[in-house]
Amino acid sequence: MTTDTSPAETRSRVEPYEPTEIEPRWQARWEELGMHTTDLDDDSRPRFYLLTMYDYPSGDLHIGHWFTKTPTDALSRYKRMSGFNVFFPVGFDAFGLPAENAAIRSGVHPREWTLRNVDNMRRQLRSMGATWDWSAEVVTCEPEFYRWNQWIFLRFLEAGLAYRRRAPVDWCPKDQVVLAREQVEGANRVCWRCGTQVIKRDLEQWFFRTTKYADEYLSYDEIEFPEPIRVMQTNWIGRSEGAEIVFDVADEQHAGEQISVFTTRPDTLFGATFMVLAPEHPLVDKLTQADRREAVDAYRHEARRKSEIDRLSTEREKTGVPLGASVINPINGERIPIWIADYVLPGYGTGAIMAVPAHDARDFEFARRHGLPVRQVVAPLGGSPSDLESAYAAHSDDEVLINSGEFSGLAAVEGKRRITKALEGMDRGKSAVTYRLRDWLVSRQRAWGTPIPVVYCLAEPSCGIVPVPEDQLPVLLPEDFEFRPQGGNPLEFDDRFKNTTCPRCGGAGRRETDTLDTFVDSSWYWWRYLSPHKEDGPIDQTREAAWCPVEQYTGGSEHAVLHLLYGRFFAKALNDLGMVKEREPWTRLFNQGQILGADGERMSKSRGNVQDPDELVSRYGADAVRLFLMFMGPWAQGGPWSPTGIEGVHRFLRRVWATVLDPHGGEQAGQARDVDDDDLRRHAHRTLKRVTDDYADFGFNTMVSALMELTNRLVRLRGTAVAGTADWDEAVKLLLLMLAPLAPHISDELWSRRLAARAEEWSSIHSQSWPDFDRELVAESEVELPIQINGKLRDVVTVPAGLSEIEIEQIVLARDKVTAQLSDHEVVRVIHVPGRLVNVVVKPRS
Ligand SMILES: [Zn+2]
Ligand SMILES: [Zn+2]
Repeated sequence: MTTDTSPAETRSRVEPYEPTEIEPRWQARWEELGMHTTDLDDDSRPRFYLLTMYDYPSGDLHIGHWFTKTPTDALSRYKRMSGFNVFFPVGFDAFGLPAENAAIRSGVHPREWTLRNVDNMRRQLRSMGATWDWSAEVVTCEPEFYRWNQWIFLRFLEAGLAYRRRAPVDWCPKDQVVLAREQVEGANRVCWRCGTQVIKRDLEQWFFRTTKYADEYLSYDEIEFPEPIRVMQTNWIGRSEGAEIVFDVADEQHAGEQISVFTTRPDTLFGATFMVLAPEHPLVDKLTQADRREAVDAYRHEARRKSEIDRLSTEREKTGVPLGASVINPINGERIPIWIADYVLPGYGTGAIMAVPAHDARDFEFARRHGLPVRQVVAPLGGSPSDLESAYAAHSDDEVLINSGEFSGLAAVEGKRRITKALEGMDRGKSAVTYRLRDWLVSRQRAWGTPIPVVYCLAEPSCGIVPVPEDQLPVLLPEDFEFRPQGGNPLEFDDRFKNTTCPRCGGAGRRETDTLDTFVDSSWYWWRYLSPHKEDGPIDQTREAAWCPVEQYTGGSEHAVLHLLYGRFFAKALNDLGMVKEREPWTRLFNQGQILGADGERMSKSRGNVQDPDELVSRYGADAVRLFLMFMGPWAQGGPWSPTGIEGVHRFLRRVWATVLDPHGGEQAGQARDVDDDDLRRHAHRTLKRVTDDYADFGFNTMVSALMELTNRLVRLRGTAVAGTADWDEAVKLLLLMLAPLAPHISDELWSRRLAARAEEWSSIHSQSWPDFDRELVAESEVELPIQINGKLRDVVTVPAGLSEIEIEQIVLARDKVTAQLSDHEVVRVIHVPGRLVNVVVKPRS
């Protein structure tokens, strides 16, 4: 191929790459063609439900949103090209505190604030050029969504999965709202939202019975979670095996009264020298002896003022007072005194413990301080009881029981079993399992959420708590809220909302003014995506059966024990109620990492290291931003933003642009270079294999670098005899197809120009099939073959792939290191493991 154009003219032949012109044009075109609307009832192709955690409409999209969303979009496009009917919906987690706080500040209704933000974010999201099916959009603050929260709540209530009870709960004084246990973070127990230390309050609250499935969450057979998420959930659920032991109260005036404790170490029962109750334990009043009353009351008063974290602190001195009563240790009939101490908390276990000071650090400290006996009952085999300086809690495999009556000498594990069995025999205990997991507290004293659909009957006699009948749903939020300067839930002061009639007796009633935790919305939104406007039920069960569970879920790991656990609860509960067919909501979860500022720190406005995606798009184009975010590092890790990095990616796209549009231009144009490039095809197909393989493990960064390498080769060949050949054309075609999911606009533009140049009928690159690579071309062309002599590695030789056995044998036997051996040895046989190694078996010449 020759050309008579000068290099300078060649370079100017292509107009510059203008993403801001190309991208909106293609976005409009795709939308016009309805390319991203999924026909959910099409069963001609395999289905693929791809879900990315939906966003809170904070108002402004930041680059972190792009980082979580554009790789997922690439996956969605790749799956479509691979023949799947892909469902890739989008929505907004639209209830919650920031809207309410903004409303208090600015006087705008939270709904208005939220919907305005949703609008802005829709525009920003569209600029990514992503393939979301906007027809399936869900906005959770809309009555058409939250009425089904209410409906599900009523089903839970009927099924005993929702209930109301008074309990000590965590209260955030700043947000003036109760929190679920999962929303209290860290050792100093702060509010997950505002970081204020929570306090305990005794309140009547609504709960979901998440503990019903405690054991089931521990099985991850049907759900592929990243290891850290599995570990966090498992620890949070905190299953421990042990025994429940019942102690009879010893004093005559309390005959028949019993106190039960849970212990993971029933083998240490002979070492229990006192019992400790939480100051809040219901029996404290009853068991306190008259002469102890004053001290006990004073202590309880003091304990109430302390935070849970203070009470659990290991630093603090262990305070407590005796009640003057005692219990009988069921295993040996010993009378042991009952104390109260604030290191025992009412919400944990039974609120009572058997104290075994020899084998528990806190009990040990308590016993020393209050002069209570310490009796060692477990020791290493062959060791003898010694004066303990601290609790002996070390666990070795050869521990045996001592000082334990007939059980002395038994291995601790066996002792555990036998003592539990003995307790069972006397009806004073049984083996038991406890969990750290508690039921999910779902009521919130805030206005911007789903109203809980119950009415408190005020008639005499009262019908109690009455569910709102289904035909009266939704219970709508008022259209205006009157926020009070002193705070508090405006629903409580809204008589039109609050005052109602009892649905059961028609008498006066008061509506529940608490709303549901917004994590309720996010526990089932993906099922609603399948039929967002369905009016006669929350979930289209035919579509649910066809599309669920969600095949791939992606998002951050920060909600490991919140959203990712609540969603599992919903799947199990809705399955029990016959509403969904699966017991796990998602098949696989991928956690992406986090994008940091250029300084390597978390992006934040105060640090001034935030990247504004709108600005980046107008400067480099959405394709460059997408590609850079995928290229900057492994998606699971994230990493810092790089201004030079995005420049580099932008340059790469310009090179693709010029090379594809003008194969004969460039530096080499017109130079009579003789290029032998048989390998271009091989390179293109190997790149295709690499990129295809990389989708399996989200290797977006390596895909992009593979495409850059292929492009570099094309750039080198540009203007040479190879440019424009069939091989060249195939390589360009593959390059564009591979680029399509990652940089969808430039690839569709170049694709359509390519079709036009060939006078072929237009069809979008995104409607093309993902190409197959040529297996022969991608096979390794050379193999490294280790050579062993009598099984010992002696040499390595590189040979062309595909040689015959005889050819390989000839090469091997001619190697210097082999011939050296053959001076005094002879070859018995040559063993060839194709592609792996050659072993030459020799023996000394006789
Ligand atoms: Zn708070
Ligand atoms: Zn009533």
